[in-house]
Amino acid sequence: MAGYTPMMEQYLSVKATATDAILFFRLGDFYEMFFEDAITASRELEITLTGRGAGQEERIPMCGVPHHAAEGYIARLIDKGYKVAVCEQVEDPASAKGVVRREIVRIVTPGTVMDSKSVGDTSNNFIVGAAHQSGRFGIAACDLTTGELYVTSSSDSHETVKNILNVYRPSEAVGDEASIVAIQSDRNATARAILTTVRDEVDLTKLADQFPDEQWNSHELVRQQAVARLIAYLDETQKRSLTHLRSVKAYDSESFMSLDAFTRRNLELTETVRDRSRKGSLLSLLDRTRTAMGARLLKRWIDQPLLNRNEAERRLDAVEALNQDWIKRKELRDELGEVYDLERLAGRIAYGTANARDLNALKNSLKRIPAIQELCQTLDVVSLNALAERMDACSDIADAIERAIADEPPVTLKDGGIIRTGYDSKLDELREASQNGKQWIAELERQEREATGIKSLKIGFNKVFGYYLEVTRANVVHLPEGRYERKQTLANAERYVTPELKEKEALILEAEDRMFDLEYERFIALREEIAGQMARLQRLAESVAALDVLQAFAEASAERRYSRPSWTDGDGYDLTIEEGRHPVVESVNENGVFIANETTLTASEGAILLITGPNMAGKSTYMRQVAMICLMAQIGCFVPARRAVLPFVDRIFTRIGAADDLVGGQSTFMVEMKDIQVMTEQATKRSLIIIDELGRGTSTDEGMAIAQSVIEYVHNHIGCKALVSTHFHELAHLESSLSGLRNGCMAVKEGADGVTFLRKLVPGAADSSYGIYCAQLAGLPETIVSRAYTLLNEHSSFDTSGFNSIANSLVIKEVATATAYSEPVSQELGSQPVIPTNDAIQLSMFVDAAPSVKPAKPTVNDKLLDKLRKLDVMRMTPMQALEWLNDARNQLTESGDH
Ligand code: ADP
Ligand code: MG
Repeated sequence: MAGYTPMMEQYLSVKATATDAILFFRLGDFYEMFFEDAITASRELEITLTGRGAGQEERIPMCGVPHHAAEGYIARLIDKGYKVAVCEQVEDPASAKGVVRREIVRIVTPGTVMDSKSVGDTSNNFIVGAAHQSGRFGIAACDLTTGELYVTSSSDSHETVKNILNVYRPSEAVGDEASIVAIQSDRNATARAILTTVRDEVDLTKLADQFPDEQWNSHELVRQQAVARLIAYLDETQKRSLTHLRSVKAYDSESFMSLDAFTRRNLELTETVRDRSRKGSLLSLLDRTRTAMGARLLKRWIDQPLLNRNEAERRLDAVEALNQDWIKRKELRDELGEVYDLERLAGRIAYGTANARDLNALKNSLKRIPAIQELCQTLDVVSLNALAERMDACSDIADAIERAIADEPPVTLKDGGIIRTGYDSKLDELREASQNGKQWIAELERQEREATGIKSLKIGFNKVFGYYLEVTRANVVHLPEGRYERKQTLANAERYVTPELKEKEALILEAEDRMFDLEYERFIALREEIAGQMARLQRLAESVAALDVLQAFAEASAERRYSRPSWTDGDGYDLTIEEGRHPVVESVNENGVFIANETTLTASEGAILLITGPNMAGKSTYMRQVAMICLMAQIGCFVPARRAVLPFVDRIFTRIGAADDLVGGQSTFMVEMKDIQVMTEQATKRSLIIIDELGRGTSTDEGMAIAQSVIEYVHNHIGCKALVSTHFHELAHLESSLSGLRNGCMAVKEGADGVTFLRKLVPGAADSSYGIYCAQLAGLPETIVSRAYTLLNEHSSFDTSGFNSIANSLVIKEVATATAYSEPVSQELGSQPVIPTNDAIQLSMFVDAAPSVKPAKPTVNDKLLDKLRKLDVMRMTPMQALEWLNDARNQLTESGDH
């Protein structure tokens, strides 16, 4: 360091302790950055890069921001994934000898931002501590703004780690090498990058200090390590006591339904696929919460569906009671609407950033609790009563605030106006002295004038002598002897003091100097007293949040006509849904009506439904609605159906063909296959599987082969409920070889004016994908459309499936009548099996992936006649007709058939 100025040497030694952060170095009214930090910050913040002489020959790069604007700049750097170390002057520059002492007072990181503006009211900001040892992962997740701290552990699989992280979506993680690798493998799935810090060392002794009430011995070692690492990191960055982190919520990751990122995203649980917005997700649909903490809890409930039927029932009981009594629900909603974010308030109180208005907000919120408790009690449901009982209204805290804090205090803490009169006698005295000071002086002035008869006598003030009586030289002779003590002589006046004035002066000055300090002290004392009650406030916040979510479920269910689901008896896992709807599609379908559909996946009628049907028929919507209904039931909400009897599912898998992935480009065929692999490995009999357009990302033959073998695997080896859609209507033949599989299709009405999608699921298989029809609807030139039909016809003469495809699709069929629903739509299929379910043939399909499967070949004659019958003459150009004729003749001559 030789050669640098002393200040620069100080900078370098501070910087050495915070190498992974951008150092904001306080110099007077600015925070300055130097060297690499300056270059980075000037680029990211678009501020001017300058240079500074530092005792070296070359000037060093430097940039700076004014201290009063620092928070905004820091927030921007954090947003971009940096850490910022804030280094302050920690002694008074006036009294410092040499360079002012400076220290890092806090390190701001993405996971430890305390400013709720940048975090968002209705979302959490989690930082995760992680540990990996002996084949187990431990994960601790903490939101510093609310004081929540969860810890769990899982088996040694990156998959489960990812599924746990999906619940928290942390912005930052600290852990040992191995756990950080597991966390980083999640990059693809989480939208935001996770800032990671590797810390291999871990000190478990800290746990007892931070959590005096916790029995750490009873926690699994990886959990202890995860929490200890997290706490150590928070200590290191926050450099203050974390009094609001006093309790840990430990849970088994197996006690909630594990949802992989793909399923979460595909069902659009908390954000949409298209733009990752909250709007349009199940979360925003159900979010009728009145408090921010309720909104945050709702998200967690959606992210963690229950696997405990009793718990789900308890929630449903409460929702039902609230759902039925709309008057009480409304009253409750009104009360909750007056409750502020208790968790964040508590967090700020513990953190020492709460101001007097925050305390009043806390007080006003606490005052609502008794009414809320009473409403819960009168609703007379065990689960709501229990919730009410658990609530501690903390009236002592509310009273303490009421006694101390003025009704409308300012935001600032050091300018007075915070503490109520009557709270502190010393303060009252001071305030009175200060308020009455001017009057008292004015009064004294009047009395002195009267006593002395000097009209020009006045009382003044200066910093050196304090208060004084001033008399002009000419009037000095009129002053009585002895009463006045001369203090100062001016050109044409004399200044005096009296013992009485001195005494009062002391009071007035003290008042003016000390009043604000005392108010501040009293405020801090009160705030610390409340901070000591943190655990009570946090428990209350938890109960209020839960109640808020329950009423939100009730409100949404009432608005949208949801009904209470019931569970399949005993061990059975049949699923029956009557008039089921897709909650989100239904809600955006404002003008049009949403067509409700039935679903039965039962042991007797088959647990797998294979759905065929054209594009836009409603296949994806139908399948997702079944998944959504199961999920909603298991978070304790009513479901969009007239009646639903559901099994408790242990997991929901949704797998979507790559081409259907709207995120575009992210998901490749390989990713799709990996997802399928995970599914085959983890699905059990009790799972629900949704497979939509499987096998899209590869050639038709391969895709169809993969689709069929996956379906067979699900049927034969997993044996769970599954909804499978495919554009390979050729797969319909599986119904005859797999006993637990049924065909279904989305009904389509074909009329003279085209095809109408009825959005109604009917038994049987579709006979066409209507792909060309879709192209026509999309307005492709007529030449292309008719050429496509011609090509399709040509293929049809070889491809077995073609027998029915185009021709049937163009025959005007009325399948829309209600009676038709009980019959297979395409009865024609019955007499002409699409693909013979001959084992030998199926085998060949997989062994050498033959381009097409050929059944016993009909004679050329038959085929030609068939084609002729189905020929759509009206759609052909004269040239095409000629070509067709010529073709037909050639085929006849070649085959030698007559
Ligand atoms: P597919 O998967 O068969 O191509 P989708 O499920 O994507 O079809 O549905 C296409 C569109 O049809 C949806 O965006 C939705 O607007 C509408 N839709 C689907 N199902 C229904 C229904 N049951 N009632 C009304 N509209 C529906
Ligand atoms: Mg679809």
